[in-house]
Amino acid sequence: MHFQTEALHAGYEKDSQSTMAVPIYMSTAYEFRDVEHAANLFALKELGNIYTRLNNPTTDVFEKRFAALEGGEASLATASGMSAIFYAIANAAEAGDNIVCASQLYGGSLTLFSHSLKRFGIEARYFNVQNPQEAEALIDEKTKVIFFETLTNPSIDVANISAITAIANRHNILTVVDNTVATPALCQPFKYGVDIIVHSASKYTTGQGLAIGGIMVERKGLVDKLKGNARYNHFNTPDESYHGLVYVDVPLPLYTLRARLSLLRDLGAVSSPFNSWLFIQGLETLSLRMKEHSYNALMLAQFLENHPKVSKVNYPGLKSNSNYENAQRYFEKGQSSGLLSFEVSDFENAKAIVDATELFSLVVNIGDSKSIITHPASTTHQQLSEEELVSCGVPSGLIRISAGLENVSDLIADLSQALEA
Ligand code: PLP
Repeated sequence: MHFQTEALHAGYEKDSQSTMAVPIYMSTAYEFRDVEHAANLFALKELGNIYTRLNNPTTDVFEKRFAALEGGEASLATASGMSAIFYAIANAAEAGDNIVCASQLYGGSLTLFSHSLKRFGIEARYFNVQNPQEAEALIDEKTKVIFFETLTNPSIDVANISAITAIANRHNILTVVDNTVATPALCQPFKYGVDIIVHSASKYTTGQGLAIGGIMVERKGLVDKLKGNARYNHFNTPDESYHGLVYVDVPLPLYTLRARLSLLRDLGAVSSPFNSWLFIQGLETLSLRMKEHSYNALMLAQFLENHPKVSKVNYPGLKSNSNYENAQRYFEKGQSSGLLSFEVSDFENAKAIVDATELFSLVVNIGDSKSIITHPASTTHQQLSEEELVSCGVPSGLIRISAGLENVSDLIADLSQALEA
């Protein structure tokens, strides 16, 4: 079935009340029929609801629907994008291992990898996403994951997905990709050989800036990569914490199963059923919204490219942009999502422009229906020196925009008056 159809129907069998909208099941736990039923659920002889830290009927619809939209086999909803990323890595790596990551990543992922994971004994090694060959030299027998973003935040690069998965497959290593900014409406990374996809659902999935959440999706047939693979012994040997279960022998999507039975059970960063319900509402209109976000962003980028006060515009939908070819290759009908940035002469000028906008909100978020503007050098990247700002692609005169769903003429008029201020 097509994306738009799955976005409205996948994963929902109407219940006894035949409600058109998916019900919100606000319940901590579920009654077992009898002791044998309870024992069967715990032993995975039967599948069903146990306790909302492990599963929930509303969240189950969200998980099935998202997996269908990514063309995956199964997924696991989490309390935030950060917890989805952490679970995707922690499911593969342990102390003494390393992960190979693109250096152009969301700042929260960089701090997770370079600081928190380091304290857990997992080393992060970085490659330039514009030069995927660098990744291969960083791989050794302890490498468990190659991690990158399809459309990077905030540097707005588009990864050459097939080049990275080809390297990972040569070494039989898992690829984990963050597809938050592109969304499955524009890009479906499983088609290009990715193994695991993660998302912050807090952005385009909820779509109106309503809730924090995340999701991890597993591709079809992943068991073939993990079975007998010495890098991933813990999938091939008994899990002492779950009655000696050997994940490669269970006829269920194994990466999701292990993350649920082990990580969600022990760490508990689960999606609230209410948030899962909000994300289901968001998915219904995702493809329509992404078309409009992409159109508005392109119009803004073209306006800015022709403005005398703007020295550079970063948007992969512009023919002049170095990511244009990858965007055409990997994104739906050339749509390039709603994120763009542009450079003006210096820090003070950038601050003045941001302060002079009226329609744009000064917020550190992206993917809202309302347009957002940020000045990274005075907010998210405040602690960096001028040289460091340049080396991570965030010069002090850089302004980032998340194009919302307003009429684009109003957005252009607002930016135009701010640039004259
Ligand atoms: N990944 C990307 C690309 C993001 O932009 C963000 C947040 O901005 C995250 C992950 C983290 O998601 P969350 O804020 O839902 O934890």
